[in-house]
Amino acid sequence: MPLMEVLACNLCRHIFEVDSERQMVGMVGSAPPLVWQWDGQGWASPRGQGFSRADLLVGVVLVVFPTLLVGGSWIFRPIGTGPLAWFPAFWTGLTFVTHLMGILSILVSYYQFSVMTFLKSLVQSVLRNTKLFH
Ligand SMILES: [Zn+2]
Repeated sequence: MPLMEVLACNLCRHIFEVDSERQMVGMVGSAPPLVWQWDGQGWASPRGQGFSRADLLVGVVLVVFPTLLVGGSWIFRPIGTGPLAWFPAFWTGLTFVTHLMGILSILVSYYQFSVMTFLKSLVQSVLRNTKLFH
């Protein structure tokens, strides 16, 4: 039976399984299973885990293509400065932001990354490093 131990993170409240023999750490209960392996210099993801280059390319295309499509229609905008002259630029920006948020929500969901935990950690780090609260 391999030597296994379990660690809990106070910050994100995830439980991690440690395999000392293979120098691997895995997040317990994650679907898909998230595992990292120590390669002597840093933590690396084993092959087949995470997003492939094709996945990332599709993500970039899903953000860039609609934005270019909507932004390209700006060429045919009405001439002059009417009350809605700002709308094409606004709509292009909104298209970019909403598509980017969709892709980021997929990434956050896959890696079970908690934005609130990250912000909490950031605030704690800033408070720890400022002299005001010492
Ligand atoms: Zn954690």
